[in-house]
Formats: sequence, C-alpha cells, structure tokens
Amino acid sequence: MRYVSTRDNSSIPSQKTFTEIFLSGLAPDGGLYLPEAYPRVTRAELDAWRKLSYADLAFAVLSKFIDDIPADDLKRLVDKTYTAAVYCNGRAPEKAAEITPVHWLEPGLGLLELSNGPTLAFKDMAMQLLGNLFEYVLTKRGETTNILGATSGDTGSAAEYAMRGKRGIRVFMLSPHNRMSAFQRAQMYALQDANIFNIAVRGMFDDAQDIVKAVFNDACFKAEYSIGAVNSINWARVAAQVVYYFKGYFAGTRNNDDEIAFAVPSGNFGNICAGHIARMMGLPIGRLILATNENDVLDEFFRTGCYRPRSTTETFVTSSPSMDISKASNFERFVFDLVGRNPSLIRTLWAKVDAGGSFDLASSEYADHFRHLPEFGFVTGKSTHADRLRTIRDIYARYGVMVDTHTADGLKVAAEHRRPDMPTLVLETAQPAKFEETITEALGIAPPRPESMRGIEALPQRVEVMNVDADAVKRFIAAHCRPA
Ligand SMILES: *Cc1c(COP(=O)(O)O)cnc(C)c1O
Repeated sequence: MRYVSTRDNSSIPSQKTFTEIFLSGLAPDGGLYLPEAYPRVTRAELDAWRKLSYADLAFAVLSKFIDDIPADDLKRLVDKTYTAAVYCNGRAPEKAAEITPVHWLEPGLGLLELSNGPTLAFKDMAMQLLGNLFEYVLTKRGETTNILGATSGDTGSAAEYAMRGKRGIRVFMLSPHNRMSAFQRAQMYALQDANIFNIAVRGMFDDAQDIVKAVFNDACFKAEYSIGAVNSINWARVAAQVVYYFKGYFAGTRNNDDEIAFAVPSGNFGNICAGHIARMMGLPIGRLILATNENDVLDEFFRTGCYRPRSTTETFVTSSPSMDISKASNFERFVFDLVGRNPSLIRTLWAKVDAGGSFDLASSEYADHFRHLPEFGFVTGKSTHADRLRTIRDIYARYGVMVDTHTADGLKVAAEHRRPDMPTLVLETAQPAKFEETITEALGIAPPRPESMRGIEALPQRVEVMNVDADAVKRFIAAHCRPA
C-alpha cells in the first residue's frame, strides 16, 4: 500500500509508505495523504470477519493499510490497544470485551458505543492505537518526538492518556486558561506522568492554536526539537476509525447482503471520513447520515454544493463544543474522491479556501463533478441547542438512556433520515458525564460518573500558566527537553 497527497499534481506523484506518512502528518505540498487506491474487501473476507473479536478485526482491516510493519508486530500492537481493560468505562468485562458494543434503543435503531475509553470520548478509539504506534516506530528508529498541540477539550485529554508514560515521547498541550470545564481541566491537569506537560495560556483556544502554528512555522526549532503532531488529519487516526464501521455493520445486520445506515455527529469530518472509506472498501453502507450543530459548514455543502469555511467570529460556541469548527480539516479527503481524484482541481479549490474564501461545486464550472454526489450515500442535517435538549429529554423518557450532547445531535438528524428497511446506528461519541451542565439543564439531574472519575476535580494539578507568547512556549519546551 502506497500513499499519495491530495494536492500532488506532478506527472509521477510521489508515493510514500505508511510509516513515512504516519510521522509526517500533512504532506509537504499542504495536501492530505490517502491510499493510492482503496483496498477492496471481498465477500469471503466479510464472511470471515463477521466472527472476529475487535482486536482481530482491527488487525484484518489495518493490515490492508499498513504493510511496512511486520505482521507479528502489528498484531501485538493492536492486541495491546483494544482490550476490555482499556475500553471498560467501569463496567463488567463481558460487556466491555466487545470494545464497541451496540446498545439497541428499539428495533432498527441503536447506539454504537465508541466512548468507553479512558477519556470517555470516541477519540480514544484511534488515539490509543496512535500512542502504541508512535512508541513502536520511534523505538525502532532510535528517535524521540515532542508532540505539540492545542486543545479546547476532548483531543488534548485523549492524546495525553494515549501518550502518558510512553518511551521517547513528550507531550506539550496548550489549552485556554480558565475556559474549559472543571472536569475537562481535571482530566488533563491531574495527570502526573513526567512526559506530559500542560500549558494554560491566558487567552482563547485560537490564541493557543496560533502559538502552535508559530512553533511549527519555525523550521529550525521544529527540527532541533523534533516537534510532532497528533491532530485529526493524521492518516493513522482515520484508518483506526474504519475498524468500528465494520464492527458496527456486523452487529447491526444479519448477513452480508443487508445494508446499514450510520449517523455521525461531525466537526472536522474525521469520524465520518472513516465511514466513507469503509464504504469505498465495499462495506454495504446504504447511508452516511452527517449531523452538525449550529456550526453547519458541512450540512451547507451537502445541501448546496457550497463549501464556505467560517471565520472565528462566525463560529458559535455551543453545547456540543467538540463540533464547534470553522472549517472541516479532513473534508479535503472526501472532495478528492468526489472530483475523481484530481489533485490539480483540489489545488484550485483549496487555494480559495486557504486564502479565506469558499468554493461552489454546484456552479456550472464544477457541476460535472457535483452530479456524482448522490453516489456517495451522504444525507445531512443540523441540530441546535433547543434540539439537543429536546432529544436528550426524549431519549431519556422513551428508553431510559442518557446521551451526551454530541450523540443527541446525531440522534436528532438520524430521526429525520431513518428508513424502515435499513437499521440505523448512531455513533455515540462521548459519555454524558463529560457534559454535566447541559445534561442537568435538560433533565434536572446530573449524569452518573464512572468510579474512576469521581472527585477528580479535587486531585492535585500540574499546569504551567503562560501569556500568549510563542517564544515563552519555545523556551519552556527547550528547558524540558534537555537531558537530565
Ligand atoms: C471530536 C468529536 C466529534 C467530531 O468528530 P470529527 O471527527 O471532528 O468529525 C464529535 N463528538 C465528540 C464528542 C468529539 O470529541
């Protein structure tokens, strides 16, 4: 399997191996990496895979994308990652052994549980594997890395829990000082591992993000301190997410002739991009139902053909905050497929986006491409704060199940597109315990917390508070990278 960049329009596109693109993230031309062609699964493979445990299925799927790590090593990494102990969320081992169990609400409508990992959000599904892959690849090469990121919540904690105690890896995670919930702060700052560094900047998330960009743009510093990233465009994260679409399909259908629909609460288009790829591999996904919150960049595109990233001032702060995005960083991967894998066209379109503009695929110039959209199975919708509260109440009243705010967005839009002849699985992307305030607003009672997280707000915290100053952050990194 070789990988190409969505923007590589040279006559002989450069082809990279999995390990090469795993460590580099973004392609040098600014594009995103994708397999040169999607591997197809045969009917015989589907029949065999239906019976597999999560870890065995993950090995089968990932082997199609990773061929430069010896099979025995990959198997060991996957077995170590997808265990009941890691994905138990405080419950009995029998239930947790499935890793991503389906919770049926009624016949034909279920929740695919993706948030039973250490930080109670679906990002653990991929990030835990990433931690193990990083450690493995770096150890083999005798290298080390310093991961630098900015977070407003879920990504930072998932990254820290995945990298804590890993050899050869340090994590420097920037977050906006006093802008996250007490629970989110505790999840990150209470980690006492020597390789985890939390930096709270006196500013907003965007200020933290700008510091990260400034450090990455300093090529000398980046090289000297081998600065790396684990953001949502990392191909390994997308590949790891493909696995649970297969697992969900097998749980939701009787045999491999049936079709299924997945409803996905979306922000950066990472999660649902994996669903698109599973479908391109031949998994019988009838529909991909994409749900946005008030930040409806993606809903607008699928309805109108116009992709119009927002400015930060036009980006709303909502009660499903992990979907509060101004542009969808993985979306370029889908558009690359939609336009027949034409890197020159992607360059033209993203030259507009990167300059702060937009493009309209429904315009006559591009209409030839846009007419293929229905072939990709997407339907979309949006959900607001009022919808979220109503859905959380309704699901609790009808089924006695508490869902988090993001999953509620998925359920709301799923209800608009469900078909009686096709089972629908809504991807549960977080536990309600993470969003206590809105659940209490909707139901008048607080969501239960898993044992391991009770009272974490009272634990001692390790965090360095700093001004919005990229040089101060660089000095901090340098000071903590000197050999002891
Ligand atoms: C990150 C996140 C999302 C959005 O996923 P994308 O891959 O960015 O589309 C949805 N819900 C929760 C809880 C998340 O943490």
